[in-house]
Amino acid sequence: MSTATHPVLPHVTNFVGTPRKMLIDGQWVAAQSGKTFETYNPATGEVLARVAEGDMADVDLAVRAARRAFEDGPWGTMTASARAKLLWRLADLIDAHTDELAQLESLDNGKPVGVAKVADVPLAAELFRYMAGWCTKLDGATLSLSVPYLPGSQFHAYTRREPVGVVGQIIPWNFPLLMAAWKLGPALATGNTVVLKPAEQTPLTALRLAELFEEAGFPNGVVNVVPGYGETAGAALVAHPGVDKIAFTGSTEVGKLIVKAAAGNLKKVTLELGGKSPNVVFADSDVDAAIAGAANAIFFNHGQCCCAGSRLFVEQSIFDRVVEGVAAAAKKMVIGHGMDPGNHMGPLVSQEQLDRVTGFLESGREQGANFVTGGKRHGTTGYFVEPTVMTNTRDDMKVIQEEIFGPVVAAIPFRDVDAVVKQANNSVYGLAAGIWTKDVSKAHRLAGRLRAGTVWVNCYNVFDASMPFGGYKQSGWGREMGKEALELYTETKAVCIQI
Ligand code: NAP
Ligand code: MG
Repeated sequence: MSTATHPVLPHVTNFVGTPRKMLIDGQWVAAQSGKTFETYNPATGEVLARVAEGDMADVDLAVRAARRAFEDGPWGTMTASARAKLLWRLADLIDAHTDELAQLESLDNGKPVGVAKVADVPLAAELFRYMAGWCTKLDGATLSLSVPYLPGSQFHAYTRREPVGVVGQIIPWNFPLLMAAWKLGPALATGNTVVLKPAEQTPLTALRLAELFEEAGFPNGVVNVVPGYGETAGAALVAHPGVDKIAFTGSTEVGKLIVKAAAGNLKKVTLELGGKSPNVVFADSDVDAAIAGAANAIFFNHGQCCCAGSRLFVEQSIFDRVVEGVAAAAKKMVIGHGMDPGNHMGPLVSQEQLDRVTGFLESGREQGANFVTGGKRHGTTGYFVEPTVMTNTRDDMKVIQEEIFGPVVAAIPFRDVDAVVKQANNSVYGLAAGIWTKDVSKAHRLAGRLRAGTVWVNCYNVFDASMPFGGYKQSGWGREMGKEALELYTETKAVCIQI
């Protein structure tokens, strides 16, 4: 493990060194309770920053501020073009602070700073730009009415797309800045106001982003950020009668709690949850590309991706070659502090996740899985896990049925297309899937048969603001990104005028 770390920018040192407050109604305030919590650097386990701990009282203030901003503030009467300019300005500010945001993300989450710099940060900026473009293009339709019981009457009827209102957004720790962008972009483009709760492990980039929202000139109360714990701040947001919609990304378990808790005022709910995504490699693929793609599918972001290709199905005739190739890629990965630009893989986000992932490894071992490479914690400081390739698994094993959320892949041989479709779809999840083949017809046919919200062919982990992302089955409700996301942040109003 390399221990050399990249020099931290003075602004980043200052940001993490100063206790962070929360943004409510355009003011940076301490928690009503006065409480704070610590976030840790997962590479060392040491305290990184201290952050205001919001709970029910703060959430209530933030929701009220968001309501005022929605109903009374300049936001509601702002032109679509003015809204677009604000979002575009925000995107430019994100770009201008790329290094700083990438460092903050690396320190808080553990991911390699170079990855944050080329993926997380620019994807966030591009998301806001894409959504900025939609502000001026949200249209309805004119309708031709033929009301049978009003013969001779004429109507001018049309639909309008209107914001849902105050939106509560709860995000996870795996892509803290990018998840904030996926949530905030469509909500703001469509004219909603927001209370965002970042994950307890990684609140820092959301707080820095909130400063950039202010700098961009968003009116007070349009974006409020309340850091805190899920059980208190998150639950208060979900239960709040003043919230019209909850958008959540995280575990399927918490997603189910949210559905129940949102029932009080029947707020709208969208959920982006877990996955156990199949990645299917055929013998007629470019096998070397498939091997590299399979390694990227599971090891990117240390496997802490909801769409991680964690079940690798390989056609029998090339099984050994692919397994050896992915294992070789795993062995080549340099593991260490995310701030060292030479490292490929950083730590998992927390002690809890380290325990969870090593628990899964233990369970795989007990149930008879074979470890081709990896299989245990890496080092003794920080929350590192070895990139791991398993074989000899069965469908009923915990490591095959449940989301591990770590750099752990199970390679499974298959003999024919029908069998692999059945096995790939044998999951409560349906978020993403991969297919590797040079046979175009086979790829299209299979893309149609896999029960997943995204199917990548001869690629994996390709994200774009224009491409909707979300899950079938227990991987969630609704879609993020693309124009599909906008639909879920708007109500359709029908207006009917007798003329
Ligand atoms: P989690 O509990 O689902 O956390 C996601 C977000 O929900 C966090 O902001 C969390 O707050 C909040 N939350 C937790 N309980 C809540 C409640 N009762 N009401 C409202 N909000 C609540 O996920 P986790 O515990 O961090 O990770 C556990 C597992 O979830 C992972 O191992 C992985 O399998 C899965 N996961 C999936 C994704 C994804 O992208 N789909 C992302 C992260 C995790 P806190 O910060 O206080 O927890
Ligand atoms: Mg949690």
